[in-house]
Amino acid sequence: MTATSIIPSLHLTSVYELLIDTYGEMHNDPDYDPLGGLVGTILSQHTSDINSGRAYRQLIKTFPTWEEVRDVPTHMVAEAIRSGGLANVKAQRIQDVLNTLTSQQKESGGNKPLPEYLYDEIEKRTPEDAWRYLRTLPGVGPKTAACVMLFDMNRSIMPVDTHVHRVSKRLGLIDPKVNADKAHTVFAQIAPPDWVYGLHVGLIRHGRQICHAQKPKCGECPLYVQCAYVGSVNPQETGIS
Ligand code: SF4
Repeated sequence: MTATSIIPSLHLTSVYELLIDTYGEMHNDPDYDPLGGLVGTILSQHTSDINSGRAYRQLIKTFPTWEEVRDVPTHMVAEAIRSGGLANVKAQRIQDVLNTLTSQQKESGGNKPLPEYLYDEIEKRTPEDAWRYLRTLPGVGPKTAACVMLFDMNRSIMPVDTHVHRVSKRLGLIDPKVNADKAHTVFAQIAPPDWVYGLHVGLIRHGRQICHAQKPKCGECPLYVQCAYVGSVNPQETGIS
């Protein structure tokens, strides 16, 4: 599917270039395995990347296909992912997703391996429709769906966490009234597809290092001249004396 060409605003272009200058070039490395990515994202909830990575590796070593993960008793899946925390909840969630995909495919008369089925379901939709489709799967919220779209499929849906949401609003990239849920799809409309990953990583780093929720360090911010926020609040709240 060819991406629609989007001409970014001068403001967004300046913000993007400043983020790249400050935090470096960002390169996405998608594996085009959305089902593996979805299971990995479920495993990453409420734990560290190290623990969830270990749980994922143990899961695919114990059960080489997702059909096996679907069909074994839930406690065996939980045992395999124990190192990722909340094992019982996550095992049930993973099997619910696999069973839902199986039922969907059966209803449509298909018989593909589940990874191929999910890949095709995403590929045949626009990015926004595919993101909405993923959200219909049990336990898959807007951010999990966006992570799969961007990190695994290289499609321009922005995962919006608390940093991305806050910094985007302060910089005036999105309207202050746009909630986090809606913000996931805004970037697909305003940014060229190959910018979305860099914006995502850059905004998170900026939120963690400089643009804190309380007392952002505006006095040392490289994006200061592009920011809609600084003139609108008391300087004492922005670290500028
Ligand atoms: S100027 Fe301040 S509020 Fe604006 S992006 Fe920089 S740190 Fe955040």
